[in-house]
Amino acid sequence: MSIVASPLAVAPAVNHSAIKRGAFDAYGRQMTYLRISLTDRCNFRCVYCMPAIGMKFQPRDELLTDEELLRVVGMCAGVGFNKLRLTGGEPTVRPHLVELVREMKRFPGVDEISMTTNALLLSRIAGDLKDAGLNRINVSLDTLDPVKFRLMTRGGRLDLVWAGLEAADAAGLTPIKINSVVIKGHNEHEVGDLAALTIDRDWQMRFLEIMPMEGVGAVHDESLVTSEETKARLEAQFGPLQPIDSSPSDPARVWRIPGARGTVGFISPISAPFCAHCNRVRLAADGKLRLCLLRNDEVDLREMLRNGASDDDIERQIRRGIWRKPWGHGLAEGDRNIGRGMSQIGG
Ligand code: SAM
Repeated sequence: MSIVASPLAVAPAVNHSAIKRGAFDAYGRQMTYLRISLTDRCNFRCVYCMPAIGMKFQPRDELLTDEELLRVVGMCAGVGFNKLRLTGGEPTVRPHLVELVREMKRFPGVDEISMTTNALLLSRIAGDLKDAGLNRINVSLDTLDPVKFRLMTRGGRLDLVWAGLEAADAAGLTPIKINSVVIKGHNEHEVGDLAALTIDRDWQMRFLEIMPMEGVGAVHDESLVTSEETKARLEAQFGPLQPIDSSPSDPARVWRIPGARGTVGFISPISAPFCAHCNRVRLAADGKLRLCLLRNDEVDLREMLRNGASDDDIERQIRRGIWRKPWGHGLAEGDRNIGRGMSQIGG
């Protein structure tokens, strides 16, 4: 597999002579998981993610350059982020993706890099990504019906996504997890077909509750299906699911269809928030460190980077931001001041 010479050779070096003490919030939670949005752009327009009209993308000069991005990620690795997830928008549309993975994997302290993708472009690059150090992927897949798929993604092709999934499996980007947002009137009757993928594959099929992100609040209100409803539907088809232990910081509660190779997970930000064990912050493509997915509270690192701030100053801001990370989201109290869509934050 040939990879073009890295255009990132000029990335500024980060001093990692020693991993410093970890970054904790005021509630004692240590942040170890950085979700990095590589771009706000996407080659799909999923109905639960983007509004049908009026979607605006940020001008490119507002997004972090490769060098800026690597500088921030290197500093985050230095304060104890050992798990990185690349997301977006659609991460595979970011130029130099393979090289970015390779550079990020070189930072001391980074144990794992994963990626959330719609897999449309994955079949071409799965092997290169694996060689560069990507460990595993999550693929978003909401239906196995090609016509419905086109409707839900507003134009996507299921056959290409499936080829991407198979390429990722063959390249060893495993264990593969599949994310499916369950929404009334679209795919709630298909959860059985999706869960059945785990019977002879070692995949985890994860069902997500739709969140009322900016631009899709009305879709959420009309079409939320709770994890409990989805689980009941699966149990009516397959019999009682068997519980599986999972890490407290895993947002999914995990189960198995009796006799299946893979597992089924439920992610329930609306009906059963998992804020108590949150260990993550997000870096948006425009360089804002987002402290909670569902609260509009961010630290502007891009401005510091572009104003010549030192590594020490930026690290101090990262630590201060993490310290003031909100306990959890306020959806139950009706606080919907989220400020951005999922594709702009990096889901
Ligand atoms: N383009 C990539 C993809 O499709 O996986 C990565 C970005 S996408 C925003 C990341 C995840 O967010 C996907 O699994 C998607 O299903 C989920 N997502 C998007 N909007 C959502 C919403 N309103 N509620 C819950 N999950 C959502």
